[in-house]
Amino acid sequence: MKCTILSVGTEILFGSILNTNTVYLSRQMNEMGIDVMYHITVGDNPRRLKEMIRHAFTDCDMIITSGGLGPTQDDLTKEMIAEAFDEKIIPFPDQVQILESHFKKYNRPMTENNLKQANFPESAVVFPNSNGTAPGFALEKGEKLIISMPGPPKEMVPMFEQHVRPFLERRSDSVLFYKTLRVYELGESMLETQLLDLINGQTDPTLATYAKDHESTLRIASKRKTRAEAEQAVEAMLIKVRDRIGPYIYSEEDEDLSQIVLRKLLQDGIRFSVAESCTGGSFSKAVTDMPGVSAIFDRGLVTYSNQAKIQELGVKPESLETYGAVSAQVAEEMAQGLHRVSGSDLCLSITGIAGPDGGSAEKPVGLIYIGLWYRGETLSYRYQLRNSNRRYIRSNAVMHMFLVLYKTLLGKI
Ligand code: ATP
Repeated sequence: MKCTILSVGTEILFGSILNTNTVYLSRQMNEMGIDVMYHITVGDNPRRLKEMIRHAFTDCDMIITSGGLGPTQDDLTKEMIAEAFDEKIIPFPDQVQILESHFKKYNRPMTENNLKQANFPESAVVFPNSNGTAPGFALEKGEKLIISMPGPPKEMVPMFEQHVRPFLERRSDSVLFYKTLRVYELGESMLETQLLDLINGQTDPTLATYAKDHESTLRIASKRKTRAEAEQAVEAMLIKVRDRIGPYIYSEEDEDLSQIVLRKLLQDGIRFSVAESCTGGSFSKAVTDMPGVSAIFDRGLVTYSNQAKIQELGVKPESLETYGAVSAQVAEEMAQGLHRVSGSDLCLSITGIAGPDGGSAEKPVGLIYIGLWYRGETLSYRYQLRNSNRRYIRSNAVMHMFLVLYKTLLGKI
């Protein structure tokens, strides 16, 4: 099935609101194995809306719209859909009743234009709105299907989950099953190269690589008559993929690296602390986002200045002088000093140059050192991160801190 996602609303064209409905719906379609071919946005303009519906149906058999179902004059989505399908708009008595009891319940007067929300194309299937007054609907003619939902995400998302997804699942004669693998230290193009013949030879299961912020994901998907058949096909492909890139896969269940690492620390009861410089507390923030981590996370210190590194962690002034704050020596002394003050089982540190200034030929922006004290041993890791921008470097640095922990605790290099 090929689908267009059609957003209606002048606010979206003005850039006043972010089109989160399209993002949400695309993900849902993708998960259901429905191919999204186009994203279209039109303002509250009936002629263009009708033209876009016609245009989308030249290449797609399904359109999902959001927005323009309200009671006001410019909410014309329903009318344009009816015209495009050559249907009359008529009042649905049960919907009139629902609307009347809604206004009675909230003791609000119902105006004539509110009643418009109980009108639908005559052969529409109505989807109730549990969070607002504008119901959604589906309209089908021959091979063409249109689904229309209200614009506010707090209305559209529950409507999709409660009514639209089950509606689409009932119509489908196949089941999609997929696994999403998370892969580290292999860029998207490298990943594709390793798997090129599998990707090229694919029909079902399909293999798709996606670049995320600092990692890649690989989705293996199969659409078959039964779930068991689809699962089996994915499993067979997974074995081939493991053969090629096994050591780089850190999750076969689409889990974050931080989740995997923190779960391991919790399981093994390893108390840990961190001293951060260039990441300014972002690693501690990521750690404390996970509920229950207080059982093992002792402290996170932000030691930004040289003085703080000396006072809080006992870093030697000579080391700062000789090697500079961004050095393996200082990263290691930070981790050792943190162990002295905290007594934690594992101590992690980071120092680096997040830019945009402060880099040099010898130490460019994006250079980081991660120090680790664990079981009486001190190590440091040097990474040169891509100098995209300060935000990117800092979040990538946090990812690398989790990577160091992953390698240390889960034993993969
Ligand atoms: P209502 O019953 O509230 O009138 P409606 O279906 O007419 O619903 P619109 O008037 O088009 O919806 O949009 C209402 C609000 O919903 C917008 O002001 C905006 O905040 C939000 N909204 C609409 N479309 C989108 C979208 N594509 N993504 C995110 N938010 C949206």
